[in-house]
Amino acid sequence: MNILIINAGSSSLKYQLINMNDESTVAKGNVERIGIEGSNLVHKYSGQVYKVEQPLKDHTEAIRLVLDALTDKDHGVISSMDEIGAVGHRVVHGGEKFAGSHLINESVISMIEENIPLAPLHNPANLMGIRACQAVMPNTPMVAVFDTAFHMTMEKEAFLYALPMDYYRRLKVRRYGFHGSSHRFVSQRTRELLGEKDGEKLVICHLGNGSSLSAVKDGKVVDTSMGLTPLEGVVMGTRCGTIDPAIIYYLMKQENLTIEQVDNILNKKSGLIGLSELSSDMRDVRTAAENGNEQALTTLNIWAYGIRKLIGAYTAAMNGITALVFTAGIGENDFTARTRICKGLEYLGIKIDEEKNRAAAGEEAVISTPDSAVKVVVVPTNEELIIARDTLELASK
Ligand code: ADP
Repeated sequence: MNILIINAGSSSLKYQLINMNDESTVAKGNVERIGIEGSNLVHKYSGQVYKVEQPLKDHTEAIRLVLDALTDKDHGVISSMDEIGAVGHRVVHGGEKFAGSHLINESVISMIEENIPLAPLHNPANLMGIRACQAVMPNTPMVAVFDTAFHMTMEKEAFLYALPMDYYRRLKVRRYGFHGSSHRFVSQRTRELLGEKDGEKLVICHLGNGSSLSAVKDGKVVDTSMGLTPLEGVVMGTRCGTIDPAIIYYLMKQENLTIEQVDNILNKKSGLIGLSELSSDMRDVRTAAENGNEQALTTLNIWAYGIRKLIGAYTAAMNGITALVFTAGIGENDFTARTRICKGLEYLGIKIDEEKNRAAAGEEAVISTPDSAVKVVVVPTNEELIIARDTLELASK
């Protein structure tokens, strides 16, 4: 069966068609600038790239264009839409109600709608993707896979903030965590890679533009660094991560800023770009540091220090650590970032084989020495595959 994975943003739509017989990607692509001037699609298949530029007024037109590309007589990969067995949708916020993936029906849709206040930018876009697919492929089963679901195993001690309880009861203010499909995929792969055993305690570092850490004990999330929103946690490309909340009203007072302006500063102008005043992209900051830029070097040190501290915290939360796992753009590719983080973790018995570390780029690898007390591994993430597997399972029922 072929499964179409949809990741809809407010003006973009990423897709991937996966053949579940061998879990291979048949085609993937991206529609950008939906509803704005310059709408276009980039469709990739068997090493080829096919581009279309045409006005697209909404997500329904975007999905139609994706299906046209998938079935195009010159650039397509299937002969008709009927070859798509099911559609899996990435949905950012499942709130407290979704601890797993769900076949989409009207009640699932209304629960995603209920969670809009928790993810005002993402859930409406995800819903547009769902509605658009329903309009174009009314008879195809669809599944929602939530970014928050894998983290729903956290206990109150990890997910409640010390705020008046009423805000949790009425407004559901709590830690949810994100990147759940990535943390789930990577923890499963790590278990396979290292050989299943009881008492496994993983700290997973998903380090990309957005970054989050999770503590996973025997397959269940004990804690994770992102919170009510993806702003909390470690330093990211443009997000500040955890700060003293009083900074927010201090800035508002001193600079006469509105809530929207502060929100923009914390989400878009902070993190690597804020500290380095150069770039939100780790490659640029690293290159600058290597060329002697002190501020860039300080930025890298602040970034790594925060991650190292959290690894310590999660080791405490699980009363130990058996494996430290790196994934996503930076975690998979940047050996200097891994070295920087692990320097200072020797007290945990962590020993890195620098040669293996240096060689590991974008593929699975154990980078610790054989006598390291903690295995250190690189595991490329694959959120689409988690979505595809859940979609296949639920759609086949
Ligand atoms: P997103 O959160 O957008 O999915 P990614 O997981 O793609 O992000 O990660 C993007 C980050 O990964 C960027 O900071 C980029 O610089 C970094 N990155 C990608 N490839 C490399 C590389 N070869 N070396 C260092 N950093 C890399």
